[in-house]
Amino acid sequence: MPARILIIEDNSANLELIEYLLKAAGYQTLAATDGARGVQVAREQRPDLVLCDLQMPVLNGYEVLEQLRAHPLTRLIPVLAVTAFSMPGDRAKVIEAGFDGYLSKPIEPEQFVRQVEQYLPGNMIRSPTKG
Ligand code: MN
Repeated sequence: MPARILIIEDNSANLELIEYLLKAAGYQTLAATDGARGVQVAREQRPDLVLCDLQMPVLNGYEVLEQLRAHPLTRLIPVLAVTAFSMPGDRAKVIEAGFDGYLSKPIEPEQFVRQVEQYLPGNMIRSPTKG
């Protein structure tokens, strides 16, 4: 069964690109354009993986992660940070905060799906070269 992936991203161009790439690779997507809604969708839909932008109004990515980890229904879902910041040390900071992984913007269409698939269980991967 292909993974259901929730994308929490306030930039509509990035959101559309990520949804497009994941759907084209055979995955089901769920989307939220702010952190509060993202937390709500995660509780209602229990996605297999969450991709979360860090820079968002209302709830930023760190706050979203905190709320997901604090709730029994979403506590174990892997969450990847997707961020435009790519300063030395950012990756360590994101991992230290408790994210399972880190993907940097700009999104590289050629590699993006493969990067995401590294965080999925083998039986949920669609790409023929994996799983
Ligand atoms: Mn943003």
